[in-house]
Parts: sequence; C-alpha cells; structure tokens
Amino acid sequence: MSDPASDRAQPRPATIAVTAGRPPHEPDAPLNHPITMASTYVATGDVEYGRYGNPVWSAFEETLGALEGGRALAFASGMAAVTTVLDLVGNDGSVVAPRHAYSGTVMALADLESRGRLRGTLVDIADTAAVVQAMRDDEDCALLWIESPTNPALELADIPALAAAAKELGIRVVVDNTFATPLLQQPLALGADIVVHSATKYLAGHSDVQLGAVVVTDDEVYGAVKGRRDLVGAVPGPFETWLALRGMRTLHVRLDRAQSNAAELARRLAEHPAVEEVRYPGFGAIVAPVLRGGGPAADLLSAGVRLWVHATSLGGVESTLERRRRWKAEAATIPDGLVRLSVGIEDVDDLWADLAQALEGTAPAG
Ligand SMILES: *Cc1c(COP(=O)(O)O)cnc(C)c1O
Repeated sequence: MSDPASDRAQPRPATIAVTAGRPPHEPDAPLNHPITMASTYVATGDVEYGRYGNPVWSAFEETLGALEGGRALAFASGMAAVTTVLDLVGNDGSVVAPRHAYSGTVMALADLESRGRLRGTLVDIADTAAVVQAMRDDEDCALLWIESPTNPALELADIPALAAAAKELGIRVVVDNTFATPLLQQPLALGADIVVHSATKYLAGHSDVQLGAVVVTDDEVYGAVKGRRDLVGAVPGPFETWLALRGMRTLHVRLDRAQSNAAELARRLAEHPAVEEVRYPGFGAIVAPVLRGGGPAADLLSAGVRLWVHATSLGGVESTLERRRRWKAEAATIPDGLVRLSVGIEDVDDLWADLAQALEGTAPAG
C-alpha cells in the first residue's frame, strides 16, 4: 500500500504537468501566468532585460524541469538548444553521435566539423559495445550524444549502460528526449547529464509553435548553458513560450491517446500486404512502416491520404506523415520506402480507414 502522506509530497507526472509553474494561489491571482511582453524591467531585480529572462519562460522551465527532474532553460527552437549544447564542447573536442540522429543535429555536427571547430563520430546508437568502443578510441571525446528513439529509424539506445560507460571515461552525456518526452523516459534519472528537447513537437503539441529546451542537473552546466543563451540570444518569444506551456498542461492526455492509436496502427500495418516492415519501439506515437514498393509507393501513400496530412514535423494532435528520404539531408541508410507517421489523437478507426485506402493505391501496377 502506498503512503498517502508521501503521495502528497511526490506528485505524479500528470499532476506536475497540470500544476507546476503556476502563480501562487492568492485571492484574485490569475491561475496562469499572463503573457509578459517586456524587453526591459525596472532595475535591481532578478531579470533586468528581456534576453535574460521572462516570467513565462520561468513558468515553462519550472514545469519541464519538474517533469524531467532537473533545471530547464527555454530556447527559441530545438536546434537552438542542440547547437547551444554542442557549443559546450571545447575546441578540438569530439562528439560521438547517432548516425540516425535528427538530420538537423547531424548537419550541425558536420557544419562545426567543416569549420574545424570540433569532430563528430557517427555510430549505430543501438549497438552499445560499438558506441563504448568509439568513445574509448577517441581520447578527445567530450560528449556522447544520444537520441532514443532515433528520428526516424526508431532505434533504441541503452541509456543507463552508455551513461555509465561515458561517466567512467569522463565524457558528458546528452539525450535528445523529443520523441519519448519526460512522461515515457527520464534520461537524467538514467544517468545522463543533459536533456534537450524540440518543444515544437510533443511538449507544445499543436503544430503552432517553435520552441526548444535544455534540462540539466549540475549548477555549473546550468550556468554555462544560461550564459550561452544570454550571449547568443537564441531566446524564445513570450507568446511562443506561453503556447508551449499551455500545451504541456495536456501532454499526458494527448500522449496517452496518441500512443494507444500508434500501437494499434502498428499492429494493423504489420498485417498489410503493401508493408514490408513496421518500425515501432513499443512506446510513443511515431510509427515508421517501410513499404514494399519503396520510394514510389511511399510518395503515392503521401499523396493518397485525405485525413492524414502530408507534412513534416511531428508530435501534434493532428496525424501527419512523410517519406523521410524526400529530404536530401536525411541519412542515406534510411530506407527510401520508410514513411514516418506522427500519430495524432483522432479516432483510430478513421485513421486506419484513410491509411488503408491510400495503401491500396501504392501497389505496383500489374
Ligand atoms: C524537430 C527535432 C529537433 C529540432 O527542433 P526544432 O524545434 O525544429 O528546431 C531536434 N531533435 C529532434 C529529435 C527533432 O525531432
């Protein structure tokens, strides 16, 4: 039996999502932080200037920090968060990263490498022994970048094992937790030092805002990340942050429905004759069928859906899909016929009916 007193002391994630970061309960206080539009503040306080802080950022950061078990910092986009963390690596340091990480992350690494700023080694993040070997082989390795599940291959990394090995080698560990969200995976508790998010996706959840975040446990790392944000200025707008916080209030409910829809669609897709393979890690709301007809079939599917939207990005209440290899930046090792489905919260039978009718049109002629 659980102890009701300790239950009160330790709110569960759904309660945190709804209640964290709210103004104090005082007569006439608003339940939610209003959007504070301010570039400057009266001097001698904690904020001083719009690039250094905003009450809505603080509310967003408190909420995400409580969910992840660390201290959060909001950024203008996921990539602003990603590049800020990469910038913590010193000159000539190196980064071990998944070859199937988000394409923007792989491109950012390539860009830094091409300018002689640092080196990147791309690995199969699901192959724990190979990742550990890559870290051991490179004495300049300063950062292990983990994404799990990966976008869009949906490979899983053994975060505790990799974090333990990295710690022994003095290598900092970052996890891009965009796909799992803190409700399904809490990397800091698994041994990671830093979490990054594209809050554009599940955290905000309505395909209407661009936002990112970094979450850390160590005060020194917090200071370094905050210092980079202050200097580089990749700061989010108050309205965008407010939208993302508003989205986070329903994260658990949205994710619940999206995940059960995804699991059901993965089952049905696996039995469809046009589908060669279904990638689904068993949790989360991204499903990636690989079509027997390859790229052309994937394009026909994208063009043939009516309820699903052919669009990039993911994590919204709306179901979207795309053939990932339509992007030149996507890794060549991603199958041409892989379609990334971002499963939303619509009725699952409607979603299936639309997919099934569009799949009918993908069979090669004859
Ligand atoms: C979208 C995405 C990013 C980049 O985030 P933006 O908000 O688009 O800048 C980073 N990592 C993953 C896993 C993503 O899906």
